[in-house]
Amino acid sequence: MSDLRDLYQEVILDHTKHPRNFGTLEHANCKADGFNPLCGDRLSLFLSVEDGVVKDVRFQGSGCAISTASASMMTESIKGKTRAEAEVLFEKFHQMLTGKPGIEFESDELGKLAVFSGVKEFPVRVKCATLAWHTLNAALKNEREPASTE
Ligand code: ZN
Repeated sequence: MSDLRDLYQEVILDHTKHPRNFGTLEHANCKADGFNPLCGDRLSLFLSVEDGVVKDVRFQGSGCAISTASASMMTESIKGKTRAEAEVLFEKFHQMLTGKPGIEFESDELGKLAVFSGVKEFPVRVKCATLAWHTLNAALKNEREPASTE
């Protein structure tokens, strides 16, 4: 188990140092800002959603290692997914982090996102890990027509 934990920490560290999909999206039609006052993590999320599918996604912000890594991995895992699939992933991720102790979670359902399973032992960090997902939820609810120059 400790080997697995080391591996998880390496993955999180890698995403913290080299966040994927970091930046803004010119043609975003969904956008939301997230803030976790407990830690001071801030996040802006930009999504391009077409026909209910997340075509592209970027994030910007500043926060702790967990929040940055979580946002980075969230953007990777929702790209190409439908809105419904993204919502299911959010629920599973949330369940993994807030689930009662003793209930083993099927980590293969979450793929790489399982690296955050250790966070549930640190309740103050759970909000850091879920911030990007709450922001995603907000962004998907605020979908509007793509900006047009016409
Ligand atoms: Zn944080």
